[in-house]
Amino acid sequence: MEQIYYKSTRGNEKLVKSAEAIARGLSDDGGLFVPTSIPKLTVELNELKNMNYKELAFTIMKEFLTDYDEKDLLESIDKAYDEKFDTGIIAPLVKHGQSYFLELYHGPTLAFKDMALSILPYLLKNAVKKLNINKEMVILTATSGDTGKAALEGFANVPGTKIIVFFPQEGVSEIQKRQMLTQTGDNTFVIGIEGNFDDAQNGVKQMLTDENLLKSLEENNKMFSSANSINIGRLIPQVVYYFYAYTQLCNSGEINTGDAINFCVPTGNFGNILAGYYAKRMGLPIKKLICASNENKVLFDFINTGIYDRQRDFVITMSPSMDILISSNLERLLYAMSGEDSKKIKNLMDKLKSDGKYEIDDNMKKELQDFFGGYATEEDTAHAITEVYKNTNYVIDTHTAVSYAVYQKYLETTKDSTKTVIVSTASPYKFTPDVMKSIDAKYIGLNDFELIKELSKITKGDIPVGIKDLETRPVLHKTVCEKDEMQIQIEKILKI
Ligand SMILES: *Cc1c(COP(=O)(O)O)cnc(C)c1O
Repeated sequence: MEQIYYKSTRGNEKLVKSAEAIARGLSDDGGLFVPTSIPKLTVELNELKNMNYKELAFTIMKEFLTDYDEKDLLESIDKAYDEKFDTGIIAPLVKHGQSYFLELYHGPTLAFKDMALSILPYLLKNAVKKLNINKEMVILTATSGDTGKAALEGFANVPGTKIIVFFPQEGVSEIQKRQMLTQTGDNTFVIGIEGNFDDAQNGVKQMLTDENLLKSLEENNKMFSSANSINIGRLIPQVVYYFYAYTQLCNSGEINTGDAINFCVPTGNFGNILAGYYAKRMGLPIKKLICASNENKVLFDFINTGIYDRQRDFVITMSPSMDILISSNLERLLYAMSGEDSKKIKNLMDKLKSDGKYEIDDNMKKELQDFFGGYATEEDTAHAITEVYKNTNYVIDTHTAVSYAVYQKYLETTKDSTKTVIVSTASPYKFTPDVMKSIDAKYIGLNDFELIKELSKITKGDIPVGIKDLETRPVLHKTVCEKDEMQIQIEKILKI
């Protein structure tokens, strides 16, 4: 098997193995680790069709993690995708009306972040063992709502780790906030910041490369890693479900093996859709990756003009996990599009920092043809929830609704009849006020917990375990800080 190494998007830093890339999270030069080549699938699509989620995960992930022992990887997969998920299928593909939805929210925190964060702690644990690291791992995480809880669940009580999560105090749903603030585990820390997700992510990225801070960590026998999708260990497990969606379509007779399909992905930090792009490069027949944005439509503008411009108002929408103006993982795509020209990428990223915008050249623009960019307004999003419910009785969450609405626009614009999977990233239980209001105005005014019960009634389904007793769980985390005080908080927690 070909050995895969990892390198930074921004420099000619030495090559590292996947364990080191995962342990470090971010490269010292601020760049993101990328594989030296995207491995090609070594088995036929036909053979994948008989695999369950775990078998498929092993087949895909071992191609990227060539330095991991196969036994360790198998064990990690086995522990990650277990009864924490409320279905043995793990990521079911369902059809409602003419639409296909890939439900990625059956994990413990009810959002797609569980797909990667249920395995990342094991990958990290193995990395620490392989690299002979005897330091305490401090996992720094910025969250727009869902990563935080999924990372807390994954790392709570894991020996040798602390998990510290920063979330925008005013930028997450009530349920998301409560899920995080009630987190148990002595090694868990949750801090609200007076700022938005970009502020939180910038703060985390800054600390991960701050020389002085890194030095005092070193002196105290600690080291940082990240649970954000800047960590390549988040992306690799996400490649799996693109294949899994495909094999489910084959097995249900909706497509023939080899047919190309589209995916429509509700996008924020560009991690999920980038995993789809990696799946395509591995050999999965994908025609278009439809990038669905909400009103924070930087990516829509970028895909349509080649200009990335974050200088605009940050909009708080009903799909808060996509309220992002600086999409970190786009850097990995740019790197691929530029023919792996790290100097060029460094220039673009420096420009983004200093001028708030950059433009790619014509050669790079040509490479954007794998993607279609669309966006949904708040009205479009609400309308999508209403329409899907009215026509099929299926309830989708606000992020999935953005995806659905953008897919309708894609259909109108392109008339492309290729079968398209709408990637469904969260359970409607996490965003009940906007979901239920779109279904019927009579729900306006009820609180989140009353709405959870109403949703359970209309779907005739049980309330998911992850939020069942949320109302009565005690709030354990109360710290709030200014956006420029994140480092002070870290120093306090770590006593450094
Ligand atoms: C994180 C998240 C997204 C955005 O995914 P990215 O990988 O950041 O593009 C979309 N929907 C939900 C529910 C999320 O939690």
